[in-house]
Amino acid sequence: MLRHYNIPVFLPELACPHRCVFCNQTSISGMQHIPTTDDLRTIVESHLSSFKPGEKSIELAFFGGNFTGLPEKMQLEYLQEAQPWLASGKIQGIRLSTRPDYISHTQVRKLKAMGVTHIELGAQSTDDEVLQKSGRGHNREAIEKASAIIREAGLVLGLQMMIGLPGDSLEKSLKTATDIIRWGAEETRIYPCLVVRDTVLETLYKKQNYQPLSLSEAIEQAAIIYTKFETAGLKVLRIGLHASDDLNGSALIAGPYHPNFAEMVFSKIWLQQFEAFKHWPETPNILIQCAPSHLNHAVGYKALNKKWLLQRYIKVRFMADSSLSGRQFKVQKLLL
Ligand code: SF4
Repeated sequence: MLRHYNIPVFLPELACPHRCVFCNQTSISGMQHIPTTDDLRTIVESHLSSFKPGEKSIELAFFGGNFTGLPEKMQLEYLQEAQPWLASGKIQGIRLSTRPDYISHTQVRKLKAMGVTHIELGAQSTDDEVLQKSGRGHNREAIEKASAIIREAGLVLGLQMMIGLPGDSLEKSLKTATDIIRWGAEETRIYPCLVVRDTVLETLYKKQNYQPLSLSEAIEQAAIIYTKFETAGLKVLRIGLHASDDLNGSALIAGPYHPNFAEMVFSKIWLQQFEAFKHWPETPNILIQCAPSHLNHAVGYKALNKKWLLQRYIKVRFMADSSLSGRQFKVQKLLL
């Protein structure tokens, strides 16, 4: 299987005339400098030189901000800079993230002609009340329309969502996930809403007009939504924000941030699976076997799942079994 790499380039809020209540892009992306084309060259060349030889697929990824809201000249300069890497096969495609209301047929055609293969839209929610309370400046219809334009052009559509937004609920988030699947996204990201310094949400939170999800609520919701996407065959590219010095330090005011958030969610999915399992053997000691790539998540973050099983059993041992895949597992008596 080809190893996939992204070369990430962060474009802070320069292009964005909006102010979503949760957004302070400079804090979230951990940087404030807008990359020049010289910076772009340096970033890409340094990544390219660090990759080990071998079969791989590499994408240049413009994250953050609002790519299609950049002045057209700037969009072109970035994309033109990438042409030699595309032509020489050093990179295989370009992905970018942008807002749903900055997508048109003409624009998408131009982007495709310049080598853009994936467009990720920050959908965040498909509930009009949540979108309005979050200050997004667009409605659900804009997301549906933009999704159709991207799909019709034959590009890979990504729709990112957030949980715990103002006015949000698990029910509304599940509806958002259903829409994301229905509108043809192949990829998604799940981000818990955080209260970051210098945002509208900080003011709302301090006036007690907004309460973020607790960490355990966010883990629970993300686990349910991840499972829904997984069942529908979507690639979940990320759960939770990247750790940045800012978020580990003073920029985070409140909310369910944890540097190991994704790991906690995967561990929770295993726990939910164990809780639903009806055939636990009547024996003092058990052996659980699962796919090697799932072993740590099955044991659980800080061995929480093992501890849950130890309420019932005297000894619980986990073992990798490469004949198993996904979240399959086998349980048997442990012979000591
Ligand atoms: S659209 Fe994106 S960059 Fe603009 S304010 Fe909202 S989250 Fe921030």
